[in-house]
Amino acid sequence: MSYEKETRRRRTFAIISHPDAGKTTLTEKLLLFSGAIQIAGAVKGRKASRHATSDWMEIEKQRGISVASSVMQMSYRDHVINLLDTPGHKDFSEDTYRVLTAVDSALMVIDAANGVESQTRRLIEVCRQRDTPIITFVNKMDREVRDPLDILDEVERELGMPCCPVTWPVGQGKRFGGIINLRTQSMTVFAPGSEKRPQDFEVIPLAEADKLRARFGQTFDDALEAMELAQGASAEWDHAAFLAGKLTPVFFGSGVNNFGVMEVLDAVVDMSPPPGPRVSRLVGKSGQVTETVVRPEDPHFSGVVFKVQANMDANHRDRIAFVRVASGRYTPGMKLKVQRTGKELRPTSVVTFMSQRREAVEEAYAGDVIGFTTHGGVQLGDTVTDGVNLQFTGLPFFAPEMFCTVVLKNPLRTKQLQQGLQQLGEEGAIQVFKPEAGGNMLLGAVGQLQFEVVQHRLRTEYDAEVRLEPSQFTSARWISAESPEELKKFEAAYPMRMARDAANALAYMCTSPYDVRLAQERFPKITFHPLREHA
Ligand code: GDP
Repeated sequence: MSYEKETRRRRTFAIISHPDAGKTTLTEKLLLFSGAIQIAGAVKGRKASRHATSDWMEIEKQRGISVASSVMQMSYRDHVINLLDTPGHKDFSEDTYRVLTAVDSALMVIDAANGVESQTRRLIEVCRQRDTPIITFVNKMDREVRDPLDILDEVERELGMPCCPVTWPVGQGKRFGGIINLRTQSMTVFAPGSEKRPQDFEVIPLAEADKLRARFGQTFDDALEAMELAQGASAEWDHAAFLAGKLTPVFFGSGVNNFGVMEVLDAVVDMSPPPGPRVSRLVGKSGQVTETVVRPEDPHFSGVVFKVQANMDANHRDRIAFVRVASGRYTPGMKLKVQRTGKELRPTSVVTFMSQRREAVEEAYAGDVIGFTTHGGVQLGDTVTDGVNLQFTGLPFFAPEMFCTVVLKNPLRTKQLQQGLQQLGEEGAIQVFKPEAGGNMLLGAVGQLQFEVVQHRLRTEYDAEVRLEPSQFTSARWISAESPEELKKFEAAYPMRMARDAANALAYMCTSPYDVRLAQERFPKITFHPLREHA
């Protein structure tokens, strides 16, 4: 059976932005306008403070909140829209990168006063690597902000791709008159207030220029002039280029005032792609690799675990594995197989995520996200199928940029520590490296806060009190070689530098940036990888 009809009406995307640009506000308005939630303010509560906090309550809150609202599903215009949330704190950026592997497009929100900011820049890079199509929303036009031409210019430079304005602002701040829709050649008039529904805004055709001029005066003429300049300087709309991640449509508005938001929701439906095919790689017994293309409408169910999240209840060590469906259909009671181990899973509760609540899933297709409770045996990056032999790759792990050594305070708790580290490693909360030469475990992180979270969770969830000591290592590279002999020689040359991560992949630990260069010169046949893709 083919599931084409269902998969074609799915849109799965994430919002990327710098803190405070307006992601939470926009998320809420999208849910509101699609009818997924009834009242404004419902999403607000989920937002934890993410500003340089190392307050435990805040971290715990953020964890709890992110379980509740990691995925929000809504239906709109006969489409099923899955909005995947990304953690806000930069120390958890690895999680965000992994979420971006599970979406088919991204919505970039920028604050019109600040332009493209640091955290957005990093996320853009990840999207660019994967050629993820990006829709741009320039927010907060009701404030005194930058010249829209300036913003377009900056977006073009930062994204490295041309912009194509779809709406254009008339004035800003106190004189913000509204937006011109370039397609319909009409102006939607701005009115402040968070109670407004999209249909409440007045629309005036550009053909009635005299009327618009009488109302908005010079601001209107200035806007027309800038709009013409922008159109002259920017790209024509080219859907194929957008889908290839080579052009971004740009919208202007004010999220908090519900203004310009409907246009974005419509763009998600009209412009963003449905789920696409994914490549699966299978390694045969003799090491030969076969690649197959898995299409979303293929009958066999398959998906990838892109997130594993510990449940908040410390007494039950269960975790929720989030699976982005890649093909086929999931129905309740289905047997699932984890490809890495060949083991069968019989999850008791499989859920789907409806904005604020979890519900038992009735059916899920490519593009949807299902979550199930696991007590172990499922790792980040695992491919889960109905039994069919497939293995997706592409879930990235980045070489940590900081390391600590774990010292257990009470040696009798060794078993708990091992279990804790294994589970936290599987979750991707931290990277765990076991030195080949023995000795204390090493923890690798991208952000300092990760260490603090792990130390805290080892204590509260596993009753293992640890001390984290500075390590001589500053970075790591995963290594591979064409021949096993070559790898053996390398290992023999650096016995004190070899370690294995949670997936048993071999890594070379570095103490300085020159390390890799020197080792590379000595062993030209060894490849050093700053990024590992789960295989
Ligand atoms: P996030 O950190 O990206 O999730 O941003 P929020 O959605 O929490 O917004 C940050 C702040 O900007 C909040 O105080 C919002 O009320 C405010 N904000 C969001 N959108 C707009 C807008 O269009 N205009 C104005 N003036 N403020 C906005």
